[in-house]
Amino acid sequence: MNTTPDTVAPPASAQDGPCILAVEDNEEMREFLQRILERRGYRFLGASDGVDGMELATERRPDLILMDLALPTLDGYEATRLLRAKPEFAATPIIAVTAHARAIDQARALEAGCNAYISKPYSIHDLFALLDQFAPAAQ
Ligand code: MN
Repeated sequence: MNTTPDTVAPPASAQDGPCILAVEDNEEMREFLQRILERRGYRFLGASDGVDGMELATERRPDLILMDLALPTLDGYEATRLLRAKPEFAATPIIAVTAHARAIDQARALEAGCNAYISKPYSIHDLFALLDQFAPAAQ
């Protein structure tokens, strides 16, 4: 049988887009992010706590990290500080995902080294606007 690879390969965008690591302890949220991000042409990695997030980031070097701040084992503030202390993550965009739109949390997130923050519940539109700014996917 002569099957053409084109019929089985995922769209080029799904293979070639920027890689986003979502560090998020809510499984439904991770699955939701994976669906919408892959549909938009990103590659997706998910980690369920701060320690796993650090390990996966170090191993896979994502193009952008979506960092939930309230996480088991190591919270998002500390994980961000530890990543920023490594030269290879000095310039990686890290977007904090805050549970509350409290100004104090947002200030702490920026102080820890996050480039920006988004507050739950957020709209897909607002999330994509931030991703377009920090790690645009080819459309
Ligand atoms: Mn959380």
